[in-house]
Amino acid sequence: MTDAQKIVTRFAPSPTGFLHIGGARTALFNWAFARHHGGMFLLRIEDTDRARSTQEAIDAILDGMAWLGLEADGEVFYQHANAPRHVEIVEQLLAAGKAYKCFCTLNEVEAMREKARAEGKPPRYDGTWRDRNPSDASAGAPFVVRFKAPQSGETKIDDAVQGQVTTANEQFDDLILLRSDGTPTYMLSVVVDDHDMGVTHIIRGDDHLTNAARQAQIYDALDWDIPQFAHIPLIHGADGAKLSKRHGALGVEAYRDMGYVPEAMRNYLARLGWSHGDDEVFTTAQLIEWFGLEAIGKSPARFDTEKLDNVNAQHLNMADDAALVAETIALNGALANFEAQLTAAMPLLKDRATRLPDLAADAAFLAAKRPITVDDKLQKHLNEENLAHLAALAQKLENLGDWSRDAIESLIKAYMEANELKMGKLLPVFRAALVGSSQSPGIFDVLALLDKTEALARLNDQITG
Ligand code: GLU
Repeated sequence: MTDAQKIVTRFAPSPTGFLHIGGARTALFNWAFARHHGGMFLLRIEDTDRARSTQEAIDAILDGMAWLGLEADGEVFYQHANAPRHVEIVEQLLAAGKAYKCFCTLNEVEAMREKARAEGKPPRYDGTWRDRNPSDASAGAPFVVRFKAPQSGETKIDDAVQGQVTTANEQFDDLILLRSDGTPTYMLSVVVDDHDMGVTHIIRGDDHLTNAARQAQIYDALDWDIPQFAHIPLIHGADGAKLSKRHGALGVEAYRDMGYVPEAMRNYLARLGWSHGDDEVFTTAQLIEWFGLEAIGKSPARFDTEKLDNVNAQHLNMADDAALVAETIALNGALANFEAQLTAAMPLLKDRATRLPDLAADAAFLAAKRPITVDDKLQKHLNEENLAHLAALAQKLENLGDWSRDAIESLIKAYMEANELKMGKLLPVFRAALVGSSQSPGIFDVLALLDKTEALARLNDQITG
Protein backbone atom coordinates (compact mmCIF):
# COMPACT_ATOMS: atom_id res chain seq x y z
CA MET A 1 0.00 0.00 0.00
CA THR A 2 1.30 3.43 -0.84
CA ASP A 3 0.60 6.47 1.30
CA ALA A 4 -1.55 8.01 -1.37
CA GLN A 5 -3.80 4.96 -1.45
CA LYS A 6 -7.10 5.44 0.24
CA ILE A 7 -7.79 3.22 3.19
CA VAL A 8 -10.70 0.86 2.69
CA THR A 9 -12.00 -1.36 5.48
CA ARG A 10 -14.98 -3.63 5.61
CA PHE A 11 -17.21 -5.46 8.01
CA ALA A 12 -18.18 -8.84 6.60
CA PRO A 13 -20.73 -10.56 8.84
CA SER A 14 -22.39 -13.85 7.99
CA PRO A 15 -26.11 -13.25 8.48
CA THR A 16 -26.83 -16.29 10.60
CA GLY A 17 -27.86 -14.58 13.84
CA PHE A 18 -28.04 -11.24 15.58
CA LEU A 19 -25.26 -8.66 15.62
CA HIS A 20 -23.51 -9.76 18.78
CA ILE A 21 -21.03 -7.79 20.85
CA GLY A 22 -18.00 -9.31 19.12
CA GLY A 23 -19.34 -8.47 15.67
CA ALA A 24 -20.30 -4.98 16.75
CA ARG A 25 -16.78 -4.40 18.05
CA THR A 26 -15.27 -5.65 14.76
CA ALA A 27 -17.55 -3.29 12.86
CA LEU A 28 -16.61 -0.42 15.18
CA PHE A 29 -12.86 -0.95 14.78
CA ASN A 30 -13.14 -1.06 10.98
CA TRP A 31 -15.36 2.01 11.03
CA ALA A 32 -13.14 3.99 13.42
CA PHE A 33 -10.01 3.10 11.46
CA ALA A 34 -11.56 4.20 8.16
CA ARG A 35 -12.93 7.40 9.68
CA HIS A 36 -9.60 8.21 11.32
CA HIS A 37 -7.90 8.01 7.93
CA GLY A 38 -10.68 9.61 5.93
CA GLY A 39 -11.07 6.29 4.12
CA MET A 40 -14.02 4.09 3.29
CA PHE A 41 -15.87 1.65 5.51
CA LEU A 42 -17.77 -0.98 3.53
CA LEU A 43 -20.34 -3.52 4.58
CA ARG A 44 -20.46 -6.94 2.96
CA ILE A 45 -23.10 -9.42 3.96
CA GLU A 46 -21.55 -12.87 3.56
CA ASP A 47 -24.67 -14.71 2.61
CA THR A 48 -23.10 -17.55 0.64
CA ASP A 49 -24.39 -20.13 3.09
CA ARG A 50 -27.91 -20.02 1.73
CA ALA A 51 -29.33 -22.48 4.23
CA ARG A 52 -28.16 -20.55 7.28
CA SER A 53 -28.50 -16.96 6.04
CA THR A 54 -31.78 -15.26 6.87
CA GLN A 55 -33.36 -11.92 6.06
CA GLU A 56 -34.10 -11.55 9.75
CA ALA A 57 -30.40 -11.73 10.55
CA ILE A 58 -29.56 -9.27 7.76
CA ASP A 59 -32.11 -6.84 9.20
CA ALA A 60 -30.73 -7.32 12.70
CA ILE A 61 -27.23 -6.50 11.46
CA LEU A 62 -28.37 -3.42 9.53
CA ASP A 63 -30.52 -2.19 12.44
CA GLY A 64 -27.76 -2.84 14.96
CA MET A 65 -25.21 -0.93 12.90
CA ALA A 66 -27.65 1.93 12.31
CA TRP A 67 -28.34 2.16 16.03
CA LEU A 68 -24.62 2.15 16.81
CA GLY A 69 -24.14 4.88 14.22
CA LEU A 70 -21.72 2.80 12.16
CA GLU A 71 -22.78 3.96 8.79
CA ALA A 72 -21.20 2.11 5.90
CA ASP A 73 -20.09 3.96 2.79
CA GLY A 74 -21.83 3.19 -0.47
CA GLU A 75 -24.12 0.28 -1.17
CA VAL A 76 -24.25 -2.84 0.94
CA PHE A 77 -22.51 -5.73 -0.86
CA TYR A 78 -24.13 -9.14 -0.87
CA GLN A 79 -21.57 -11.86 -1.37
CA HIS A 80 -24.01 -14.30 -2.90
CA ALA A 81 -24.65 -11.89 -5.77
CA ASN A 82 -20.97 -12.08 -6.74
CA ALA A 83 -20.96 -15.87 -7.25
CA PRO A 84 -20.45 -15.59 -11.04
CA ARG A 85 -17.32 -13.51 -10.45
CA HIS A 86 -16.03 -16.05 -7.92
CA VAL A 87 -16.55 -18.86 -10.44
CA GLU A 88 -14.73 -16.83 -13.09
CA ILE A 89 -11.71 -16.57 -10.78
CA VAL A 90 -11.81 -20.32 -10.13
CA GLU A 91 -11.69 -20.87 -13.88
CA GLN A 92 -8.75 -18.52 -14.10
CA LEU A 93 -6.93 -20.52 -11.42
CA LEU A 94 -7.78 -23.78 -13.19
CA ALA A 95 -6.46 -22.44 -16.50
CA ALA A 96 -3.24 -21.32 -14.79
CA GLY A 97 -2.75 -24.77 -13.23
CA LYS A 98 -3.15 -23.31 -9.73
CA ALA A 99 -6.30 -25.26 -9.03
CA TYR A 100 -7.56 -28.63 -10.15
CA LYS A 101 -10.68 -30.73 -10.39
CA CYS A 102 -11.03 -33.41 -7.77
CA PHE A 103 -13.39 -36.28 -8.53
CA CYS A 104 -13.19 -38.01 -5.19
CA THR A 105 -16.51 -39.08 -3.78
CA LEU A 106 -17.49 -38.03 -0.28
CA ASN A 107 -16.84 -41.57 0.88
CA GLU A 108 -13.34 -41.53 -0.53
CA VAL A 109 -12.55 -38.23 1.18
CA GLU A 110 -13.97 -39.54 4.43
CA ALA A 111 -11.81 -42.68 4.12
CA MET A 112 -8.71 -40.48 3.62
CA ARG A 113 -9.52 -38.53 6.74
CA GLU A 114 -10.12 -41.73 8.66
CA LYS A 115 -6.78 -43.11 7.56
CA ALA A 116 -4.96 -39.91 8.55
CA ARG A 117 -6.67 -39.98 11.94
CA ALA A 118 -5.68 -43.61 12.43
CA GLU A 119 -2.06 -42.63 11.68
CA GLY A 120 -2.30 -39.86 14.25
CA LYS A 121 -2.16 -37.14 11.59
CA PRO A 122 -4.55 -34.24 11.13
CA PRO A 123 -7.51 -35.34 8.96
CA ARG A 124 -6.99 -33.97 5.49
CA TYR A 125 -7.38 -34.45 1.80
CA ASP A 126 -4.38 -36.38 0.45
CA GLY A 127 -4.03 -34.70 -2.94
CA THR A 128 -5.22 -37.72 -4.97
CA TRP A 129 -6.26 -35.61 -7.98
CA ARG A 130 -3.62 -32.92 -7.67
CA ASP A 131 -1.50 -34.29 -10.48
CA ARG A 132 -3.92 -36.69 -12.05
CA ASN A 133 -5.38 -36.19 -15.49
CA PRO A 134 -9.08 -35.23 -15.29
CA SER A 135 -9.70 -37.56 -18.24
CA ASP A 136 -9.16 -40.41 -15.77
CA ALA A 137 -12.56 -39.59 -14.32
CA SER A 138 -15.66 -41.09 -15.84
CA ALA A 139 -17.62 -38.76 -18.10
CA GLY A 140 -20.01 -36.44 -16.26
CA ALA A 141 -18.66 -37.44 -12.83
CA PRO A 142 -19.22 -34.74 -10.23
CA PHE A 143 -16.17 -32.82 -9.06
CA VAL A 144 -15.05 -30.05 -6.76
CA VAL A 145 -12.29 -27.60 -7.63
CA ARG A 146 -9.41 -27.56 -5.19
CA PHE A 147 -6.66 -25.04 -4.67
CA LYS A 148 -3.14 -26.28 -5.37
CA ALA A 149 -1.70 -25.18 -2.06
CA PRO A 150 2.08 -24.86 -1.78
CA GLN A 151 3.38 -28.06 -0.15
CA SER A 152 6.71 -26.89 1.15
CA GLY A 153 8.11 -23.71 2.63
CA GLU A 154 6.07 -21.49 4.84
CA THR A 155 3.39 -18.84 4.63
CA LYS A 156 4.08 -15.62 6.47
CA ILE A 157 1.55 -13.05 7.45
CA ASP A 158 2.38 -9.61 8.76
CA ASP A 159 -0.42 -8.94 11.14
CA ALA A 160 -0.82 -5.48 12.63
CA VAL A 161 -1.85 -6.97 15.97
CA GLN A 162 -0.28 -10.44 16.10
CA GLY A 163 3.00 -9.52 14.46
CA GLN A 164 4.54 -11.94 11.99
CA VAL A 165 2.68 -15.24 11.93
CA THR A 166 4.44 -18.08 10.14
CA THR A 167 2.83 -21.37 9.25
CA ALA A 168 4.56 -24.36 7.64
CA ASN A 169 2.83 -25.08 4.35
CA GLU A 170 2.76 -28.79 5.16
CA GLN A 171 -0.04 -27.87 7.52
CA PHE A 172 -2.40 -27.10 4.68
CA ASP A 173 -4.22 -29.48 2.41
CA ASP A 174 -5.78 -28.45 -0.89
CA LEU A 175 -8.89 -26.63 0.11
CA ILE A 176 -12.06 -26.58 -1.94
CA LEU A 177 -12.69 -23.43 -3.97
CA LEU A 178 -15.80 -24.60 -5.80
CA ARG A 179 -18.25 -27.19 -4.50
CA SER A 180 -19.66 -29.96 -6.66
CA ASP A 181 -22.88 -27.96 -7.08
CA GLY A 182 -20.82 -25.16 -8.62
CA THR A 183 -21.04 -22.81 -5.65
CA PRO A 184 -17.90 -21.02 -4.44
CA THR A 185 -16.62 -21.52 -0.90
CA TYR A 186 -16.12 -18.86 1.74
CA MET A 187 -12.34 -18.97 1.52
CA LEU A 188 -12.36 -18.08 -2.15
CA SER A 189 -15.24 -15.60 -2.07
CA VAL A 190 -13.72 -13.57 0.74
CA VAL A 191 -10.45 -13.13 -1.15
CA VAL A 192 -12.10 -12.20 -4.43
CA ASP A 193 -14.51 -9.76 -2.80
CA ASP A 194 -11.89 -8.08 -0.65
CA HIS A 195 -9.75 -7.65 -3.74
CA ASP A 196 -12.58 -6.40 -5.93
CA MET A 197 -13.81 -4.01 -3.25
CA GLY A 198 -10.32 -2.57 -2.92
CA VAL A 199 -10.07 -3.48 0.75
CA THR A 200 -6.72 -2.35 2.14
CA HIS A 201 -7.14 -3.43 5.78
CA ILE A 202 -8.88 -6.51 7.15
CA ILE A 203 -9.65 -6.07 10.83
CA ARG A 204 -11.47 -9.07 12.31
CA GLY A 205 -11.51 -11.58 15.14
CA ASP A 206 -8.44 -13.78 15.61
CA ASP A 207 -10.58 -16.86 15.05
CA HIS A 208 -9.84 -16.05 11.38
CA LEU A 209 -6.08 -16.11 11.77
CA THR A 210 -5.59 -19.58 10.24
CA ASN A 211 -7.90 -18.62 7.41
CA ALA A 212 -5.66 -15.62 6.78
CA ALA A 213 -2.72 -17.86 5.87
CA ARG A 214 -4.85 -19.79 3.41
CA GLN A 215 -6.24 -16.59 2.00
CA ALA A 216 -2.73 -15.18 1.63
CA GLN A 217 -1.86 -18.23 -0.50
CA ILE A 218 -4.83 -17.53 -2.75
CA TYR A 219 -3.83 -13.86 -3.09
CA ASP A 220 -0.35 -14.99 -4.09
CA ALA A 221 -1.69 -17.47 -6.61
CA LEU A 222 -3.69 -14.68 -8.20
CA ASP A 223 -0.79 -12.22 -8.01
CA TRP A 224 -2.86 -9.83 -5.96
CA ASP A 225 -1.62 -7.58 -3.18
CA ILE A 226 -2.41 -8.96 0.27
CA PRO A 227 -4.32 -6.46 2.41
CA GLN A 228 -2.99 -5.53 5.83
CA PHE A 229 -4.41 -8.03 8.29
CA ALA A 230 -5.23 -7.10 11.89
CA HIS A 231 -6.59 -10.01 13.91
CA ILE A 232 -8.02 -8.85 17.19
CA PRO A 233 -8.28 -11.13 20.22
CA LEU A 234 -11.80 -12.36 20.89
CA ILE A 235 -13.79 -10.96 23.77
CA HIS A 236 -13.99 -13.03 26.92
CA GLY A 237 -16.63 -13.18 29.61
CA ALA A 238 -16.03 -12.32 33.25
CA ASP A 239 -14.93 -15.94 33.87
CA GLY A 240 -12.14 -15.64 31.31
CA ALA A 241 -13.73 -17.98 28.76
CA LYS A 242 -14.63 -16.85 25.25
CA LEU A 243 -17.78 -14.76 25.32
CA SER A 244 -20.72 -16.90 24.31
CA LYS A 245 -24.45 -17.24 24.76
CA ARG A 246 -23.68 -19.02 27.98
CA HIS A 247 -22.48 -15.67 29.38
CA GLY A 248 -25.74 -14.11 28.33
CA ALA A 249 -23.98 -12.52 25.33
CA LEU A 250 -26.70 -10.64 23.57
CA GLY A 251 -27.39 -8.90 20.32
CA VAL A 252 -26.79 -5.15 20.30
CA GLU A 253 -30.54 -4.55 20.15
CA ALA A 254 -30.79 -6.03 23.64
CA TYR A 255 -28.42 -3.33 24.87
CA ARG A 256 -30.51 -0.71 23.12
CA ASP A 257 -33.62 -2.11 24.84
CA MET A 258 -31.89 -2.06 28.22
CA GLY A 259 -31.31 1.66 27.79
CA TYR A 260 -27.65 1.94 26.90
CA VAL A 261 -26.93 4.82 24.55
CA PRO A 262 -25.00 4.41 21.29
CA GLU A 263 -22.29 6.89 22.25
CA ALA A 264 -21.55 4.87 25.39
CA MET A 265 -21.65 1.56 23.50
CA ARG A 266 -19.11 2.90 20.98
CA ASN A 267 -16.92 4.05 23.85
CA TYR A 268 -17.18 0.79 25.75
CA LEU A 269 -16.77 -1.47 22.71
CA ALA A 270 -13.70 0.50 21.65
CA ARG A 271 -12.12 -0.22 25.02
CA LEU A 272 -12.60 -3.95 24.48
CA GLY A 273 -9.17 -4.49 23.02
CA TRP A 274 -8.07 -0.97 22.17
CA SER A 275 -6.79 1.72 24.48
CA HIS A 276 -5.65 5.30 24.50
CA GLY A 277 -3.56 5.86 27.60
CA ASP A 278 -5.75 5.73 30.66
CA ASP A 279 -8.79 7.18 28.95
CA GLU A 280 -11.91 5.24 29.83
CA VAL A 281 -14.58 7.74 28.87
CA PHE A 282 -14.35 9.58 25.58
CA THR A 283 -16.50 10.93 22.83
CA THR A 284 -16.85 9.41 19.39
CA ALA A 285 -14.95 12.37 17.93
CA GLN A 286 -12.04 11.52 20.24
CA LEU A 287 -12.27 7.86 19.31
CA ILE A 288 -11.96 8.74 15.64
CA GLU A 289 -9.10 11.11 16.34
CA TRP A 290 -7.17 8.59 18.43
CA PHE A 291 -7.95 5.22 16.83
CA GLY A 292 -5.07 3.20 15.40
CA LEU A 293 -4.17 -0.47 15.01
CA GLU A 294 -0.95 -0.09 17.02
CA ALA A 295 -2.94 0.40 20.22
CA ILE A 296 -4.90 -2.84 19.91
CA GLY A 297 -3.83 -5.27 22.62
CA LYS A 298 -2.76 -8.86 22.10
CA SER A 299 -4.63 -10.31 25.03
CA PRO A 300 -8.38 -10.81 25.11
CA ALA A 301 -10.51 -8.14 26.73
CA ARG A 302 -13.16 -9.07 29.26
CA PHE A 303 -16.73 -8.01 28.87
CA ASP A 304 -17.74 -6.35 32.10
CA THR A 305 -21.32 -5.16 32.56
CA GLU A 306 -20.39 -2.99 35.53
CA LYS A 307 -17.90 -1.07 33.43
CA LEU A 308 -20.42 -0.70 30.66
CA ASP A 309 -22.91 0.67 33.20
CA ASN A 310 -20.33 3.09 34.44
CA VAL A 311 -19.44 4.33 30.96
CA ASN A 312 -23.12 4.62 30.10
CA ALA A 313 -23.84 6.65 33.25
CA GLN A 314 -21.09 9.07 32.34
CA HIS A 315 -22.33 9.45 28.79
CA LEU A 316 -25.86 10.07 30.03
CA ASN A 317 -24.43 12.79 32.20
CA MET A 318 -22.72 14.39 29.20
CA ALA A 319 -25.74 14.02 26.91
CA ASP A 320 -27.90 16.85 25.67
CA ASP A 321 -30.87 17.49 28.00
CA ALA A 322 -33.40 17.96 25.22
CA ALA A 323 -32.43 14.63 23.63
CA LEU A 324 -32.78 12.87 26.98
CA VAL A 325 -36.16 14.50 27.57
CA ALA A 326 -37.34 13.02 24.28
CA GLU A 327 -35.93 9.57 25.20
CA THR A 328 -37.61 9.73 28.59
CA ILE A 329 -40.99 10.66 27.11
CA ALA A 330 -40.59 7.79 24.65
CA LEU A 331 -40.31 5.46 27.64
CA ASN A 332 -43.17 7.00 29.62
CA GLY A 333 -45.72 8.78 27.45
CA ALA A 334 -47.49 10.30 30.48
CA LEU A 335 -44.49 12.58 30.92
CA ALA A 336 -45.29 14.34 27.65
CA ASN A 337 -47.63 16.62 29.61
CA PHE A 338 -44.83 17.60 31.98
CA GLU A 339 -42.15 18.49 29.46
CA ALA A 340 -41.15 21.78 31.10
CA GLN A 341 -40.75 20.16 34.52
CA LEU A 342 -38.96 17.19 33.01
CA THR A 343 -36.56 19.56 31.26
CA ALA A 344 -35.94 21.39 34.54
CA ALA A 345 -35.37 18.06 36.29
CA MET A 346 -33.06 16.59 33.64
CA PRO A 347 -29.71 17.88 34.99
CA LEU A 348 -30.27 16.08 38.25
CA LEU A 349 -32.03 13.06 36.74
CA LYS A 350 -29.15 12.38 34.37
CA ASP A 351 -26.67 12.80 37.17
CA ARG A 352 -28.35 9.89 38.99
CA ALA A 353 -29.09 7.59 36.07
CA THR A 354 -27.17 4.57 34.82
CA ARG A 355 -29.45 3.68 31.92
CA LEU A 356 -32.30 5.44 30.12
CA PRO A 357 -35.10 3.68 32.05
CA ASP A 358 -33.66 5.19 35.25
CA LEU A 359 -34.57 8.62 33.90
CA ALA A 360 -38.16 7.56 33.29
CA ALA A 361 -38.45 5.85 36.66
CA ASP A 362 -36.98 8.80 38.57
CA ALA A 363 -39.23 11.23 36.69
CA ALA A 364 -42.40 9.18 37.08
CA PHE A 365 -43.38 11.16 40.21
CA LEU A 366 -44.06 14.20 38.00
CA ALA A 367 -46.92 12.42 36.23
CA ALA A 368 -48.16 10.38 39.17
CA LYS A 369 -51.93 10.60 39.70
CA ARG A 370 -53.46 11.78 42.99
CA PRO A 371 -54.03 10.41 45.45
CA ILE A 372 -50.51 9.00 45.44
CA THR A 373 -50.26 5.29 46.14
CA VAL A 374 -47.89 4.82 49.06
CA ASP A 375 -45.81 1.66 49.18
CA ASP A 376 -45.72 -0.50 52.32
CA LYS A 377 -42.28 0.63 53.39
CA LEU A 378 -43.30 4.29 53.53
CA GLN A 379 -46.81 3.81 54.84
CA LYS A 380 -45.61 3.47 58.43
CA HIS A 381 -44.23 7.03 58.37
CA LEU A 382 -47.71 8.45 57.91
CA ASN A 383 -48.61 8.25 61.59
CA GLU A 384 -50.61 10.82 63.49
CA GLU A 385 -47.65 12.66 64.95
CA ASN A 386 -45.86 12.95 61.62
CA LEU A 387 -49.02 14.04 59.84
CA ALA A 388 -49.45 16.84 62.37
CA HIS A 389 -45.96 18.09 61.45
CA LEU A 390 -46.80 17.70 57.80
CA ALA A 391 -49.94 19.79 58.25
CA ALA A 392 -47.98 22.55 59.99
CA LEU A 393 -45.36 22.48 57.25
CA ALA A 394 -47.95 22.46 54.50
CA GLN A 395 -49.33 25.66 56.00
CA LYS A 396 -45.91 27.32 55.92
CA LEU A 397 -45.22 26.09 52.40
CA GLU A 398 -48.54 27.47 51.28
CA ASN A 399 -47.35 30.92 52.38
CA LEU A 400 -43.93 30.57 50.74
CA GLY A 401 -43.63 33.14 47.98
CA ASP A 402 -40.47 31.79 46.35
CA TRP A 403 -41.11 28.18 45.25
CA SER A 404 -37.44 27.36 44.77
CA ARG A 405 -35.45 24.42 46.06
CA ASP A 406 -33.34 26.61 48.34
CA ALA A 407 -36.30 28.43 49.85
CA ILE A 408 -38.16 25.15 50.39
CA GLU A 409 -35.14 23.52 51.98
CA SER A 410 -34.52 26.47 54.36
CA LEU A 411 -38.13 26.50 55.40
CA ILE A 412 -38.29 22.80 56.18
CA LYS A 413 -34.91 22.78 57.94
CA ALA A 414 -35.88 25.78 60.08
CA TYR A 415 -39.05 23.97 61.12
CA MET A 416 -37.15 20.81 61.99
CA GLU A 417 -34.61 22.73 64.05
CA ALA A 418 -37.29 24.69 65.89
CA ASN A 419 -39.03 21.42 66.74
CA GLU A 420 -35.84 19.48 67.33
CA LEU A 421 -36.68 16.94 64.65
CA LYS A 422 -34.21 14.83 62.74
CA MET A 423 -34.09 14.78 58.93
CA GLY A 424 -34.69 11.06 58.99
CA LYS A 425 -38.01 11.64 60.68
CA LEU A 426 -39.74 14.05 58.37
CA LEU A 427 -38.24 13.45 54.95
CA PRO A 428 -39.81 9.98 54.57
CA VAL A 429 -43.16 11.55 55.40
CA PHE A 430 -42.79 13.96 52.52
CA ARG A 431 -41.56 11.14 50.33
CA ALA A 432 -44.60 9.04 51.14
CA ALA A 433 -46.98 11.89 50.41
CA LEU A 434 -45.30 13.26 47.27
CA VAL A 435 -43.87 10.16 45.56
CA GLY A 436 -45.15 7.10 47.38
CA SER A 437 -41.91 5.19 46.81
CA SER A 438 -38.17 5.57 47.12
CA GLN A 439 -37.75 6.12 43.37
CA SER A 440 -37.17 9.83 42.76
CA PRO A 441 -34.60 12.55 43.28
CA GLY A 442 -34.25 14.07 46.76
CA ILE A 443 -37.33 15.48 48.42
CA PHE A 444 -36.38 19.17 48.25
CA ASP A 445 -35.90 18.72 44.50
CA VAL A 446 -39.17 16.85 44.17
CA LEU A 447 -41.03 19.67 45.94
CA ALA A 448 -39.39 22.32 43.79
CA LEU A 449 -39.98 20.42 40.56
CA LEU A 450 -43.63 19.77 41.24
CA ASP A 451 -45.92 22.64 40.60
CA LYS A 452 -46.69 24.33 43.97
CA THR A 453 -50.42 23.63 43.77
CA GLU A 454 -49.82 19.99 42.90
CA ALA A 455 -47.26 19.55 45.70
CA LEU A 456 -49.59 21.01 48.31
CA ALA A 457 -52.51 18.95 47.00
CA ARG A 458 -50.46 15.77 47.42
CA LEU A 459 -49.53 16.75 50.98
CA ASN A 460 -53.12 17.61 51.81
CA ASP A 461 -54.39 14.30 50.42
CA GLN A 462 -52.48 12.58 53.23
CA ILE A 463 -53.19 15.19 55.90
CA THR A 464 -56.93 15.14 55.36
CA GLY A 465 -57.12 11.57 54.08
N1 GLU B 1 -18.11 -13.79 7.48
C1 GLU B 1 -17.12 -14.02 8.46
C2 GLU B 1 -17.74 -14.08 9.83
O1 GLU B 1 -18.84 -13.58 10.03
C3 GLU B 1 -16.07 -12.94 8.50
C4 GLU B 1 -15.13 -13.03 7.40
C5 GLU B 1 -14.05 -12.01 7.43
O2 GLU B 1 -14.14 -11.01 8.17
O3 GLU B 1 -13.10 -12.17 6.66
O4 GLU B 1 -17.15 -14.60 10.74
